[in-house]
Amino acid sequence: MYKAKAYSVSSATSPFASSTIERRDPTEHDVQMEILFCGICHSDLHQARNEWSGVMPTVYPCVPGHEIVGRVTKVGPAVKKFKVGDLGAVGCMVDSDRTCPECKQGNEQFCPNFVLTYNFPDKHTGKVTYGGYSDSIVVDEHFVLHVPANLNLAGAAPLLCAGITTYSPLRHWGVTKGKKVGVVGLGGLGHMAVKFSHALGAHTVVFTTSESKKDDAKRLGADEVVISKNADEMAKHAGSFDFILDAVAATHDINAYINLLARDGNITMVGAPDQPLPVAVFGLLMRRRSFSGSLIGGIAETQEMLDFCGKHNITSDVEVIPVQKINEAYERLVKSDVKYRFSIDMASLKG
Ligand code: NAP
Ligand code: ZN
Repeated sequence: MYKAKAYSVSSATSPFASSTIERRDPTEHDVQMEILFCGICHSDLHQARNEWSGVMPTVYPCVPGHEIVGRVTKVGPAVKKFKVGDLGAVGCMVDSDRTCPECKQGNEQFCPNFVLTYNFPDKHTGKVTYGGYSDSIVVDEHFVLHVPANLNLAGAAPLLCAGITTYSPLRHWGVTKGKKVGVVGLGGLGHMAVKFSHALGAHTVVFTTSESKKDDAKRLGADEVVISKNADEMAKHAGSFDFILDAVAATHDINAYINLLARDGNITMVGAPDQPLPVAVFGLLMRRRSFSGSLIGGIAETQEMLDFCGKHNITSDVEVIPVQKINEAYERLVKSDVKYRFSIDMASLKG
């Protein structure tokens, strides 16, 4: 074991503070990385504040962070994918059983024995896993991704969660040229969905509660922008969408979006509000519409997404912050005041 520097919270109501955690020394198949950048996902906030206590209660101290880009500093003797000095990236998972039907089909995110990057039982330490708000991490090479060399690293970090979480359902539901696609909520996930939907050639419409994000939405690739509080603007799109991706972090009226779907249209939730969303079933019955969810993406698909980003030069629009500003960043995240992802420059942890 060795000691790593980190930023952690010690309860649902305490602020982030500098701390020290224990990490394992790399074993046979492990890659050790110096973390260069780590994105701040709204899931980090949900978990740091124990907002998902009903589903996955937070164990304290908690070190969040699952949008990690770094430089390989050490590899175990059996590691084949990486050598010291390579760039590497880690997303939301650090392990799975590799033997179940889901793993065999590349759906590690649905493996009953998967291990999330933080706040999950860690068989190596007997504690819980600690995430990327830290100077280093040790991960099995299967869960370490290659970052295309042309991408800006601060902007590439959020691809590891916000990127794959939006790319995966857009691909699953067949988003291509000729489709009409809606994206609800222009935050970290939403702005990546807009970039991907646009790159895939779909007619992309952003639904936002923030009037001030209208111009940005267009710049990010939206063909149209709807202020969702305006009922007349919403009504103009009734029954017209092939697919809508909902990336809202709080409870909201899902039925208003179900009614915008065309026949056989689908709305997929990637946002994870802590409270149930009431669904008016008649909205689904009419036009055979469906309502579903999606969770991150598998490892092979995450690499496919990174390669797609390399080819199309896609990264997240980031506000780079030092680790000492995490508390401020969380306050802004709650107010939907982020353009469009905070990316922590981990060099700031060295001082
Ligand atoms: P974020 O950056 O905070 O963006 C959320 C956006 O939702 C806000 O920018 C805002 O957009 C909109 N919004 C917020 N409160 C709202 C409200 N009360 N009513 C309507 N719209 C509201 O968050 P994020 O990091 O993108 O994460 C979004 C959600 O996805 C979180 O719940 C997170 O936990 C979840 N998530 C899920 C997965 C998965 O695998 N399914 C993976 C990662 C994250 P506008 O200002 O444009 O309205
Ligand atoms: Zn995330």
